[in-house]
Amino acid sequence: DSGQVIRIEKTLTDTGKLIQRCLADYRSTFPEYRFEGVEIDEPLPLLADGRKICHVLENLLNNAVNFSANGSLVQVTYEVLQNEVCVAVRDEGIGMTQEQIERVFDKFYRVDASNTAREGLGLGLAIVKGIIEAHDGRIWIESEVGRGTSVAFTLPLLGSTDQA
Ligand code: ATP
Ligand code: MG
Repeated sequence: DSGQVIRIEKTLTDTGKLIQRCLADYRSTFPEYRFEGVEIDEPLPLLADGRKICHVLENLLNNAVNFSANGSLVQVTYEVLQNEVCVAVRDEGIGMTQEQIERVFDKFYRVDASNTAREGLGLGLAIVKGIIEAHDGRIWIESEVGRGTSVAFTLPLLGSTDQA
């Protein structure tokens, strides 16, 4: 447990619209990257704190951009599982080892803390995890050194058992 108090104000939100809104800002901030955004056509209603979920996506996109080469591909994909939607942010960047993956959700952990060219505090993923868990979602990382990283999270869809 990250031990932080996160206040979530859930409102009725559509997953596709929410993601498109967050991605739109991102494309213009990093024109040198290729963002392949999800085109979610089906309505996927969520009870979620839209600003906080946007914050999650921004953090994951920031990491994808910070730990991969200029001009590489950053993909946002989604999948509807039973009662939940799974969103993933995938990059073709430097990747991480299994040992590193196990620590990146810790506060202030950075794989290469000596690299002063990257100014992160190592808080992003700890906060992201707190927000997703406050929504009763799960978050995990798959990564391969030198190949890239995928960070996926789930959010319960409206109408799933514990929200009905
Ligand atoms: P902050 O997000 O607080 O500005 P940060 O990006 O260093 O700083 P986190 O987002 O928590 O902190 O990430 C922790 C560490 O995990 C990073 O410093 C980096 O070493 C590693 N990491 C996170 N995302 C990726 C990624 N997509 N590819 C490779 N390494 C990553
Ligand atoms: Mg970060």
